[in-house]
Amino acid sequence: MKTPPGRARYPEDEKRLTWLPLLLEIQHLTDQGVAAAIQADGRRLACARGCAACCRSHVDIPVYPLELMGIAWFARERLDGDTRAIVQRQLLAHRDLGGCPFLVNEACAIHPLRPMACRQFNVFNSVCAVGEDAYHTRRGDVMRPDCKSKDQALREMLRHHGVHDGRERRRLVESGEVHRLAQSLRQIRWENLAAHMAAAT
Ligand code: SF4
Ligand code: SF4
Repeated sequence: MKTPPGRARYPEDEKRLTWLPLLLEIQHLTDQGVAAAIQADGRRLACARGCAACCRSHVDIPVYPLELMGIAWFARERLDGDTRAIVQRQLLAHRDLGGCPFLVNEACAIHPLRPMACRQFNVFNSVCAVGEDAYHTRRGDVMRPDCKSKDQALREMLRHHGVHDGRERRRLVESGEVHRLAQSLRQIRWENLAAHMAAAT
């Protein structure tokens, strides 16, 4: 079985940012589910570093508030050098970009903190063509998420919203109501993050 990456650790930041450990746990759960789904499928995964057609072709990537906090923190405090400058520029111009503002040199600049949806979108057999969204062109090649891990991650995320009752968390996930919390990545006002990054430089 493909070993899922271990849980990311940022000890100092996790002490300071009380929401960060929960986010890192959720991401770890998601990654474990992805590894299990790839294993269960058995086909060759086409996704690899440097392959990024999906970061341009996907226009509706859901991002939940806790994920947004993680992305903003990582961009403000962890990006540096040319990558930081490029991301800042792209955040300001994101409405005309035709792709995700975090895509730099065909790689995700916020890879450790990328949203669950990006973690879960994986394609088998062959890499996507330019402009292709495999979900629409060859859905059979798109990895089926491990529903158990996916739902567990969403249930855990609801703790961030003050929902601690297990039955209620289950209901919100099973009914799909949890998705109302998400915004579409392309619709977020990334100019604000660019301004915060400039102020923190
Ligand atoms: S989803 Fe398609 S474009 Fe994205 S990394 Fe996988 S093969 Fe490449
Ligand atoms: S957040 Fe990263 S992985 Fe997701 S679309 Fe943007 S560049 Fe691609």
